[in-house]
Amino acid sequence: MFLFALAFLLVGHFGRVIFSAGQTYPAVVLAPNGIALAALIKYGGKKWKYIMGAAMLNALFNGLLPGGAFIASVLYVLQASVGAWAFHALNLDQRFSHLRDTLWFSGIALLTSAIVPIGGMFLLSLSTAPNNTTFFYWWLGSIVSALVFTPLLVRGLSEQRPAASPAKGFEIALAFSLLITVDFFFWTKYPTEATLPFVLLQLGMFTWIALRMGMSYMSWATFISSVIFLCAPFYGFDRPSADQLSLRIISTEVYMCIFAILFYFLSSAFEERNEAFTSLKEKIEELEHSNQRILQEDLKKTEFIAVLAHELRNPLAPIANNLSWMELEGIQETKYKNPIDGITKQVRHISRLLEDLLDVSRINQGKIELRKQPLDLHQSIRYAIDSVRPFVQARDLEVTLDLHPGPLWVSADPLRLEQIVINLLNNAAKYTNPKGRIRISTSIGGGTAILQISDNGIGICPEMLPKIFDSFIQADNSITRTFGGLGIGLKLVRTLAELHGGTIQAESDGLDKGSRFTLKLPLGVPPQESGSIAQEPSAAALLNSSNKKILVVDDNKDVVYSLGEVLRLLGHEVLKAYDGEQALSIALTHRPAIVLLDIGLPDITGYEVAKSLRETFGSGVTLIAISGYGQAEDKLRAKQAGFDQHLTKPVSMADIKEAIKVL
Ligand code: ADP
Repeated sequence: MFLFALAFLLVGHFGRVIFSAGQTYPAVVLAPNGIALAALIKYGGKKWKYIMGAAMLNALFNGLLPGGAFIASVLYVLQASVGAWAFHALNLDQRFSHLRDTLWFSGIALLTSAIVPIGGMFLLSLSTAPNNTTFFYWWLGSIVSALVFTPLLVRGLSEQRPAASPAKGFEIALAFSLLITVDFFFWTKYPTEATLPFVLLQLGMFTWIALRMGMSYMSWATFISSVIFLCAPFYGFDRPSADQLSLRIISTEVYMCIFAILFYFLSSAFEERNEAFTSLKEKIEELEHSNQRILQEDLKKTEFIAVLAHELRNPLAPIANNLSWMELEGIQETKYKNPIDGITKQVRHISRLLEDLLDVSRINQGKIELRKQPLDLHQSIRYAIDSVRPFVQARDLEVTLDLHPGPLWVSADPLRLEQIVINLLNNAAKYTNPKGRIRISTSIGGGTAILQISDNGIGICPEMLPKIFDSFIQADNSITRTFGGLGIGLKLVRTLAELHGGTIQAESDGLDKGSRFTLKLPLGVPPQESGSIAQEPSAAALLNSSNKKILVVDDNKDVVYSLGEVLRLLGHEVLKAYDGEQALSIALTHRPAIVLLDIGLPDITGYEVAKSLRETFGSGVTLIAISGYGQAEDKLRAKQAGFDQHLTKPVSMADIKEAIKVL
């Protein structure tokens, strides 16, 4: 603040030197005004005493009597205080980096600069001394001072600039050297003879600085140019005559006023745009970053769901085996029939939910593979109807069929197509009230096989219709909750339909108006030879298959026990091992015909056991992998290790029978 007061004095002195050098009346160079305004903006109104002191001394040096000097200093303090108050009241930023700030600041400079001249004119009018100073010239001098000094002192001089790159530093140095060179032309007589080219040069320099260097350098450029221009008539090579001097100073001041205001606007607008651009870039980077994080989280969640479903399947395997065992033991005929049926139903339900969950994570990881073959759509429909029959019957629903005459050949994965139809039928049964109707129809149209499943159930409201094929979407409705579900069935249906090159569409006239789902699949060609579709083996055929010595290897004792019991009841001789080494030694001693081998064993992996068994027994043993992982690469790995077959957990009794049957 002290430095500001000193500057006030020095600049006041400079003005006085110019005054006396040229007796510039009526032109007035009122440089201290901008310093006083800057000081109070920067340090607050409470520092008025410094301004008062400096203004007082300045006035005394100017030759005013103490009374006049006091009034002059009060006027200075008043002018600066009103300006600083308005600056803060309007909440202007001291960086002048927004168009709003420079617009309001220019307004403040124009209006408050009138305070000292008004007071001064009033005082002069009281004195009898003749003077020819006019109010407007005084005001003009005051405005120039505010425009030139305030931004420079508030921002330009005190800003901590980050170190510029060498290229930027060079550009700044070049721009200012050229600016100073152009400014010094005003010391010669040429500008008066060819004003326009010089003004244009000046304009070019200012535009360069405003657009490329911002408000801080702009305030420096304005200050440097103003000083050089105002010194020109006094120290230049083409000094005007005494009667021309005032006019020259006034025209220079008008010129600087216009330039300063215009280029402050331009550079602050540009700086504002640059700031907005930088913050937008930062925001975009932030968004990209958080998007990346969300994707990673999503991937982790998908992986977690896969692991969860996988882990939950493991305990289900022995439960399912035990149920099969009980079934084989004929326990169904006892008083435990109902509870066991109940458990079997629930286990199947949980298995299906887990399979759906696994499928969704496979979809998200792009891991669904189709094993397409020529398939009659009607056959999938029949299997699906069989599968949902108990549920449909329990809800007392009437199912009508209206099928296209003859087979409808498509190229599809039988299990996946069945899954699509089961999901649609299951939903139709779930979302239709008891005694309702479900209609299944097929037709051909536009080169596609069309399956329509409609019901007269609870229907779907128009807002929900576009969403129901997304993951985890369920209409919030009591019936939905009654039957549970994860909200992923239709997501699976759509993905599987699309993987088959088909489409799925839902229609409903609204709540309680029923729903209609239309599946379209590209028509395929019939298979070359008939009977390529595997026929289900009869249970009798299975039980009649010759008895074998089977080694069951799994670290989960429950699995070994329950599976062993099922195999025993099927008439086989069962050997049991709980780790790899034990499996190898039992195999060496007992030479089993079949080994059912878990992959994840506590000591060595199932792959290593298989390799070693294959080396020892050659083709004399059949190796069946039982693994929690059922992707193509897992199956390939099993094959490379020497396995004949690969079963994915939970392995049902039907899977085991099937595996043993084909041997
Ligand atoms: P879930 O049945 O497990 O809730 P889905 O993905 O199979 O999940 O279905 C999503 C939602 O679509 C269901 O919650 C239900 O609101 C609606 N929906 C599906 N099928 C029908 C239908 N046939 N009638 C009425 N609403 C249905």
